[in-house]
Amino acid sequence: MVKNMDSILMTTPISSPLHPQANLPLLKGYLISKGFDTTIIDSNILFYHWFLKKTDFSLTMDELYKNPLYIMSYYEKIEKQLYEKSKHYQGLSVGIRYLEMKYDRTDIDEVIRATEDKKANPFINFYDQLIDQRVLSTDVKIIGIAITFQDQIISTFTLANLIRKKMPKVKIVLGGQMITRCYDTMIKNKTICSYFDYLCLWDGEEPLYDIHQKEILNKNIEFINVIDINNENTYIIDRLSKAPKAVDIPTPDFSDINFNDYFFPDMLVPIQTTRGCYGTCEFCAIPFGSNKYRMRSAQSVINDIVKIQKETSKRYGKKATLFKFMEDTSSPILLYEISKEIEKRAIDVKWETFARLEKAFTQEDFMDQLFKGGCRKIHWGLESNDPDILKNMKKKITTSYSDQVLELSAKAGILNFCFILLGFPGETDIERERLTQYIINNKNIHTITPTTFDLTKGSPMQQYFKEDNPYKMTISSPQGFQVRLSYLIDGKNWKANIVSKAHKFMLDVVKERPDIGFMSLIPDQVRSFYCDKYSNKWGQIFVDKFGKQNIKDMLFKTQKYIDAYEKKQEIAPYLLPEPLRREHFRTKEDIKLITSAIIARKQYEKRRIDQV
Ligand code: SF4
Repeated sequence: MVKNMDSILMTTPISSPLHPQANLPLLKGYLISKGFDTTIIDSNILFYHWFLKKTDFSLTMDELYKNPLYIMSYYEKIEKQLYEKSKHYQGLSVGIRYLEMKYDRTDIDEVIRATEDKKANPFINFYDQLIDQRVLSTDVKIIGIAITFQDQIISTFTLANLIRKKMPKVKIVLGGQMITRCYDTMIKNKTICSYFDYLCLWDGEEPLYDIHQKEILNKNIEFINVIDINNENTYIIDRLSKAPKAVDIPTPDFSDINFNDYFFPDMLVPIQTTRGCYGTCEFCAIPFGSNKYRMRSAQSVINDIVKIQKETSKRYGKKATLFKFMEDTSSPILLYEISKEIEKRAIDVKWETFARLEKAFTQEDFMDQLFKGGCRKIHWGLESNDPDILKNMKKKITTSYSDQVLELSAKAGILNFCFILLGFPGETDIERERLTQYIINNKNIHTITPTTFDLTKGSPMQQYFKEDNPYKMTISSPQGFQVRLSYLIDGKNWKANIVSKAHKFMLDVVKERPDIGFMSLIPDQVRSFYCDKYSNKWGQIFVDKFGKQNIKDMLFKTQKYIDAYEKKQEIAPYLLPEPLRREHFRTKEDIKLITSAIIARKQYEKRRIDQV
């Protein structure tokens, strides 16, 4: 029987299999409110089940609380099986949060080639079966595919390729961060344009609604922030318009999501309290990925939480109690209002979020109120403790009050997760060593994620790049699906240099702060649960109880990785500690890119000399 349906929205592998993403439930919520019949397929999690075949891993919340070593062995078992299954394909390595393939996902021609290579691309067989089982029996008119991460590029075009072949009348719409950041290079390539009909830029709600109005209701719509690839001259691009107002940010609709599918013993529900970021940090492309900054009202957020709790109670026999504010930057005042309301209404909910180290958090009782209103973890963009580096980054924070925020937050019982950015151009070994000591000695920092500097497409540094810059930086113009661009500092490969410094940094921190080391072994999704149960000092509590050997193993593996990196040898990715695992693949890709840029430059210089 043919099922009537206006559209299907799909998210593709690889993203985290521990929880659903917020994007499609938000889009579905919006389209349903406008009267369209839309279904979500999270083909990311379905891919993991298909790829692993037997997913008889089990982990209960009791086990998770009783012994954190269970959780480590649970995810290690999955990683090992993914590693074994990957061997059936040429050049493939699938992990819980990473993907490496034989083909370069940043190169459009390689992506196109990958869509037809069954020996290297597992997504061909997967989508062949999925479309036959779930899509062909519908009369769907529009299929929307969201691409947030680079890991999703090859699977997305594999899916689009098969939809084209099996359902040529269906309109294919692509949207998400990757499309917003790469549409300019994509539309220059005729072949890749044959895989889709529309591109949606920035927030997807209104552009996708306009496409539905045109394709389903036959309305004559003037598109803004929609590229209609079959009518190239008819689109208008205006980032600041076509953004849902704060009051129109929809309630996510999780009715097509089965929380039992995810590799996680409880429900972790993504919702949004804000959109975009109001920061203008030099290195960061996140603000460019959204139309503008908007804050919802505390009341609408609370209504969403209560509604989702009711629905999950009915459907799973227990309500969801852990929420992740899946956004770029929360607003301090809004968090305060939300927490007040949660406390007042005695709503049983815990939440975590992302925030800037703003002075507002230092107000009296502010952090205590957030804790009382359910806050258990905040991801802070600390980046560095060096005033000059922070100034160069245009971070607009100073260590004087960021230290105070971290202290008040820790005292209130909240887990402080800090992002650290190593190797911002100009950073010296002395400054990095001071940062290492600062983190070692700051017990208010409970866990960190260090990353190395990338020149990202859409960041102020890239958008307003000047040849004459204080870092003697040269950059290449973005090609294909490149979002991290190749750059040199003073003609040298800075990235290769800072990667090994970052390895040393992590090793030095973990040696002195095994609690940070231990927390970094545990998936981020679990950390708030432990904070709720055992306080924000659970890293140290577990190190004392279980972890010394794990930390030793981690140090051993890290050292092995550093040696292998320096000797340019391969290493089985599942052996790497979690913070290095993801960085490992990004680094490999970036260094390859920069190396080819250096070779190209040398060839260019040689040609010029030859000409002279
Ligand atoms: S680093 Fe954080 S605060 Fe700065 S622009 Fe990016 S998301 Fe905003």
